Amino acid sequence: MPQPTGTDSSTSSERALPAELVKRLAARAVAGGAPSVEVAAPATGSKIVDLPQSSIEDIDKAFATARIAQREWAARPISERTAIFKRFHDLILSEQSEILDILQIETGKARTHAFDEVGDVAINARYYANASKSLLESRGRNGLLLFLTQVNEIKRPKGVVTIISPWNYPLALSASDAIPALIAGNAVISRPDNQTALTALWANELAERAGLPAGVWQVVLGRGSNIGGELISRADYVDYTGSTATGRHIAAQAASRLIGYSLELGGKNPMLVLADADIKKSAEGAIRACFSSAGQLCESMERIYVHTEAYDAFVKAFLAEVAKMELGADLAYNSDMGSLTFDRQLTAVSAHVEDARAKGATVLAGGKARPDLGPYFYEPTVLADVTPEMSVYRDETFGPVVSIYRVDSDDEAIEQANDTSYGLNACIFTRDTSRGRTIAAQLNSGAVNINEGFIAAWGSVDAPSGGLGDSGTGRRHGSEGILKYVDSQTIAAQHLLPVAPLPGMSDETWAQTMTFALRAMRFLGVK
Ligand code: NAD
Repeated sequence: MPQPTGTDSSTSSERALPAELVKRLAARAVAGGAPSVEVAAPATGSKIVDLPQSSIEDIDKAFATARIAQREWAARPISERTAIFKRFHDLILSEQSEILDILQIETGKARTHAFDEVGDVAINARYYANASKSLLESRGRNGLLLFLTQVNEIKRPKGVVTIISPWNYPLALSASDAIPALIAGNAVISRPDNQTALTALWANELAERAGLPAGVWQVVLGRGSNIGGELISRADYVDYTGSTATGRHIAAQAASRLIGYSLELGGKNPMLVLADADIKKSAEGAIRACFSSAGQLCESMERIYVHTEAYDAFVKAFLAEVAKMELGADLAYNSDMGSLTFDRQLTAVSAHVEDARAKGATVLAGGKARPDLGPYFYEPTVLADVTPEMSVYRDETFGPVVSIYRVDSDDEAIEQANDTSYGLNACIFTRDTSRGRTIAAQLNSGAVNINEGFIAAWGSVDAPSGGLGDSGTGRRHGSEGILKYVDSQTIAAQHLLPVAPLPGMSDETWAQTMTFALRAMRFLGVK
């Protein structure tokens, strides 16, 4: 069996971040009151930073600063707030080489997958800078009594929003969620994962370079289990991205305070290859769909259902593409897939593959770690003959492992794709787009991509993104991605006559007059 080759010839020291940069970024965090933690680069095992951690006092200080800064920030015209994020957009593109290095060193991912994050932040900055004014502006609404009741709906920022983000897409999931919250007039307190804190701190510094006032967006640091509850107990809204198990815990904490929340959680995403699919495009698309960021992507495909007429050709083409993949995490566009980010990811991925192998699955490609390339590298892995008693059948792997299943009809593919408690992302490969759309509507999934794995829907940020079922609640992107960060307030002014009987009018006459008015409004089609 051909195996993916390694491209990485650079040394650990060539992949180190400048000490001055690391020191400057770490110093930006509202942290230092708790013992620091050492963070190492996944691809090499070398130390990156002793990261300061936030104490309760640090968190109190961050919230006190945020509450003062938020009032001044929300009072600014929206055009000033959006102008800052237009500059932020330009800066992130012009300064991309520095953040690509940080992202790669902190996560171990390939540069091409790091660039997806830069693109994501630029797209969200552009979208919300251009779309927010009309989404947030005051709107006239129909009043109770025609002409006499004048109603306006205004949007008020929640106040201080806490964003708790994971380590797998650390730029996209910290900055892109903060942008709409900030443009809506909130202050934001971000808690990035320790492993990828420098990425979030870099974005935070860049926003201030673009003109964001100090104190409006702050970063605190700490393990979620240590400081998550402290943040939720002080926040006005919580935005969480991570596993379903932690998401349930966060939801319970937020619910007990009656604050709003959105949860972007896990997935076990299906890809459907229909009988008429273009085999070459499907095989190439499956590489992007399954192995971006070594499969440590919530939207990654972990199950492929192939129509029996396309099965043999697809498997052959897909395996040929997998064999061509170059593994490595050097700081250049040389590699097709990088490293896993943690020891625990390597353990989880290996456990899924070994469990499947022991229970009779066939390993068509990969199926082993590559310690010759770095401590947590694992080969892109393709399994067949996977059955329900194997963990990989139903549980999220969150690594470069995909199982292929043969199906006899579209209906069978739909039924199997929907046999999951998750519902985050799905994709369909077919030459017949309208047939693809019909099938898409039958999939229980927050997003369905046709002839692409995830990035077509994910990158189209005018449309909402989020999960069904165990994949979460709430949406990022589109109008929902900013309106979740505001409360609607209705202001109704009553003119000339009160909503009550006129002087000398009995309650009964009032009721008859209102009955007549209600019938008239129904007749006239008043909304
Ligand atoms: P995890 O839930 O263990 O951790 C995610 C983050 O939550 C970490 O930074 C952790 O520090 C923090 N955390 C843990 N316990 C916490 C608590 N009690 N309070 C507050 N924060 C806490 O998940 P993980 O395995 O590290 O991350 C991968 C998971 O995230 C996968 O399931 C993946 O699908 C999901 N994910 C979803 C999306 C999405 O948009 N739907 C995006 C990325 C990742």
